[in-house]
Amino acid sequence: MITRINHIGIAVNSIEEAVKLYTEVLGLKLQDIEVVEEQKVRTAIIPVGESKIELIESTDPEGMTARYIEKRGEGMHHLALEVSNIQEALETLEKKGIQLIDKVPRTGAEDTRIAFLHPKGTKVLIELVEPVE
Ligand code: ZN
Repeated sequence: MITRINHIGIAVNSIEEAVKLYTEVLGLKLQDIEVVEEQKVRTAIIPVGESKIELIESTDPEGMTARYIEKRGEGMHHLALEVSNIQEALETLEKKGIQLIDKVPRTGAEDTRIAFLHPKGTKVLIELVEPVE
């Protein structure tokens, strides 16, 4: 069901500032910056081998990411696991007693289909990602 770690999401106040660390200091390459309207965020994708780092900056002070930073500060926000069939994965996990934030997948960065699991049961916020073929 799960095929790899798609990305690790890091919540930041300023993408421009955070990108400097990952590119100029750590020597990685910025792939793309895009606005994901549905999630009220701007994301920067930085590939690292088979996986990616996703920097997330809120575009709305009332948004999920803004509230997260307010509460817990900048830092690791979620772990994104890639699945081949997101709808099937959600149904299977729900049957196993995992609490879902999204019962129906929504649109994520790079037009992927994504859904979040509730951190209550998983200890860390997990995002499932079904890539676009
Ligand atoms: Zn993500």
